[in-house]
Amino acid sequence: MKGTPAVQIMGDAEGSRVLPSVGFVRLSVDLPVFDETLRIVADVPDQRLQMSDVIPLAYHICDRIVAASARHSQAVGEPASCRKGCSACCEQPVLISVPEAFRLITDIGSLPDDRKRRVNTALADAEKRTAAPGPPPNACSLLAEQACSIYAFRPCVCRTFLATSPPKLCDTHDARIMPVPIAVSSALGLWAAELEDDTSAPVLMSGTLSWCDDNHARSQRTWPGPQMVRQLFDILSKMALEAR
Ligand code: SF4
Repeated sequence: MKGTPAVQIMGDAEGSRVLPSVGFVRLSVDLPVFDETLRIVADVPDQRLQMSDVIPLAYHICDRIVAASARHSQAVGEPASCRKGCSACCEQPVLISVPEAFRLITDIGSLPDDRKRRVNTALADAEKRTAAPGPPPNACSLLAEQACSIYAFRPCVCRTFLATSPPKLCDTHDARIMPVPIAVSSALGLWAAELEDDTSAPVLMSGTLSWCDDNHARSQRTWPGPQMVRQLFDILSKMALEAR
């Protein structure tokens, strides 16, 4: 939300040593992932937030879970085989959670003008091609020269999708996918449904621009920040326990 201080993501050491700043509430959760327990610590503004304000924290959590899963896969002899330049997993329609769709618009807005124009044009073109007669585009519109054009703020589903089989199997969509016990994208869908007290169907990423226009009022809704993060932590904890 414009003018709202960001959720601060704390390292484990800072989280135990430094006191939260005035106006922030410190929250933490321990998430078991295979043989590790990940401690997530965040200082949350003690004010009302939009769903999209919490997404950078969700991306941090997702990356930590994926990294722990990759260490586990490596330890059992099935290391991730994904490499820069391989984009087979981007050649399919991508569904993202409602809060990530709202955040995508904010993150695109923060890009330098030329990149912002390119990403907005790519999304607008994808919408036109999806609406046109004939088969829909079979690659993500944000793939540019075999690389993700929004890599730093790509959605959780893209962060989570790693193969452990030889790269040539990705080309035939026969890849073995690395197990990740907590699906943060699904957690965000459940979280949005809980906050809005409604169902929360995922959004086709190539249609995010017009979907967000149609749902602008939803994107502006706010809830008490600490309560929102506690609810997200509860959902993630439940998923982690169910996966054990
Ligand atoms: S957003 Fe990026 S990582 Fe995700 S499918 Fe599109 S190009 Fe690939």
